[in-house]
Amino acid sequence: MATSFAPRRAPNAVAVRALTLALVAVALPAPRPARADGGSYASVYGRVGCAADAVVTPSSTQELADAIKSHATAAKAAGAALKIRATHAVFHSSSSFPCVPPSPASPLPCALSGSCGRGVAVFTDRLAGVLGADAGRRRLRVQAGIKVAELLAECKRRGWAPPIGAGTTYGGLTLGGVLATNAHDSAYNGPSTLAHIVTELTWVDAAGTIHTSPRDSDDARALLGGIGLVGIIAEVEVALQGTTNATPHLSVTWHPDIGLYSTFTKEATGEASTGARLSPLATMQPFEAPLLDAALKAWDGDVNDVAGPVFGAVGCLSTFLTSPTASFISVPVGLPPLVGSVPGLAIPVSDGVGDANDMLGCSCGGLPCAWDNGGPAAVEPREFVIELSDLGGWIADTRRVYEQELKQGGGGKRCLLGFVMFQFGSGSDAWLATTSGMREPVHVITMLTKSRALSYSLPAKFGFVHDILEQMSLCKYGGRPHPGKNSERTFTHPGCPLADRYPQMGKLLEAQARYDPGLVFEPPLFARIKAREGFRLSPGCDLRKECFCSEDAHCAAGFSCVPSRAFPQFRACKPPALI
Ligand SMILES: Cc1cc2nc3c(=O)[nH]c(=O)nc-3n(C[C@H](O)[C@H](O)[C@H](O)COP(=O)(O)OP(=O)(O)OC[C@H]3O[C@@H](n4cnc5c(N)ncnc54)[C@H](O)[C@@H]3O)c2cc1C
Repeated sequence: MATSFAPRRAPNAVAVRALTLALVAVALPAPRPARADGGSYASVYGRVGCAADAVVTPSSTQELADAIKSHATAAKAAGAALKIRATHAVFHSSSSFPCVPPSPASPLPCALSGSCGRGVAVFTDRLAGVLGADAGRRRLRVQAGIKVAELLAECKRRGWAPPIGAGTTYGGLTLGGVLATNAHDSAYNGPSTLAHIVTELTWVDAAGTIHTSPRDSDDARALLGGIGLVGIIAEVEVALQGTTNATPHLSVTWHPDIGLYSTFTKEATGEASTGARLSPLATMQPFEAPLLDAALKAWDGDVNDVAGPVFGAVGCLSTFLTSPTASFISVPVGLPPLVGSVPGLAIPVSDGVGDANDMLGCSCGGLPCAWDNGGPAAVEPREFVIELSDLGGWIADTRRVYEQELKQGGGGKRCLLGFVMFQFGSGSDAWLATTSGMREPVHVITMLTKSRALSYSLPAKFGFVHDILEQMSLCKYGGRPHPGKNSERTFTHPGCPLADRYPQMGKLLEAQARYDPGLVFEPPLFARIKAREGFRLSPGCDLRKECFCSEDAHCAAGFSCVPSRAFPQFRACKPPALI
């Protein structure tokens, strides 16, 4: 049964593409997409690279179990320490949790070299089917590598849907990755994650043993939000609804630089569908990619804001007009039958009615897309979970940071190509979930859009504002970082270790010892969290988001590491004109 929803938000939705594209119109080739190559694999923007000695692509739970067993046997025979991580060919985490550690290159046999490892990446791209359905109970059984968008499409075909707020805005994520990171949408004190609709998990431990665990079990509490430490999730049973319950869904997108926010709500409605669907800047026409590429390069390349008076006006205007992009909805354009439809062409609307599944998540499919499928933009998210009671203080502090950090060096009004977003949820009983044991969790998210091509050599323009907010959220507010949206340094800040922020960490470690005593599934980044090991400083480490700078050498060339004006205890890399 189709269900319709009426999202509501402030009436300031205008297509961001038209405005961003107006900046500079020079045709440049779009960067190549990140992709898996042999044993190398990388994150979607290519910023995190991993190297495995072997990649396995099982298509069934049994194949996964057999692969783990045979690699365990081979590693044991060779005297090598085995490491296995589950992910997919192009992953969306912005940290190295999906990576196996690099194996030390040595011509000697393991017994002689003394430091021998074997890293195996499990790609779930072929573990992505629908296994069955129970129509009477509206249950679906799927493999964990299925993309959220495909899961929602299957629900739509059957007239079912998850509750409002339980999806992920971006449907290109895998169900396994979403469950392992507690990825979410928004529902205040309600079902804000797909973990809420899980009824059973089938998973494989480090010995290759297959388990099936109900949602209300300690094993499920170890697996959900557990970044794959205890086992690899292979199959998931979810409970759907015929007509989706109206949960208290609200996302708030805030632009402190222009003093505006917009809200996005979804609610059940009896109105007929107008074909509206989520589409936060998803698809593009082919000619748009080189234009956006050039515009982003011009924006990020102007590090000292020399073109401030021009760019400032254009940047702030485009920020104003695109302020609801994080919750963008649009209606596909209907063209005369002879012309046919133009894929990806749609009109943004501020109010619309659409199928529940189309409102729960979106993806670019195979079409060109601004920030996916090799598009020219990279998204730089950071996200922390804090208690609602701390939100007022966080907002006041964030306003202060925006006000004080953007003023330096004169110039006109400055705006970021990004926004702050608040999403809401409920406390989780899962042991390592970001919301574990919380009363009224709020996800505070800061987002920047930047040139994918320049992201290796330059930080995002005015990115130091969000660098300071990142330290503030982590150290002043004790926020718990989203494992898929933060960087190496967020998890290893020497002054603000994370291990004690999860009240059930002890239980998680017990489960790890039971199901993975050899720490086969433990990625190096989690080992450092456990050991409270701080990041190491090296030239350029702040640019690579491996550290927070303490001297200029840690910044991009030409940038200086200076104390924040609003919070001098935090330092950030700034260009000369903005110090
Ligand atoms: C464009 C984009 C959009 C995003 N949208 C959202 C959003 O709407 N909401 C949100 O909360 N986050 C979002 N994220 C953040 C984040 O990357 C994802 O939440 C998360 O990492 C899932 O992405 P993935 O499927 O690529 O998983 P991966 O990055 O591949 O994996 C995430 C973690 O889970 C582990 N894992 C993966 N599969 C399994 C499995 N089967 N069993 C056990 N462990 C497993 C991996 O080893 C890794 O540690 C987005 C990121 C990007 C780049």
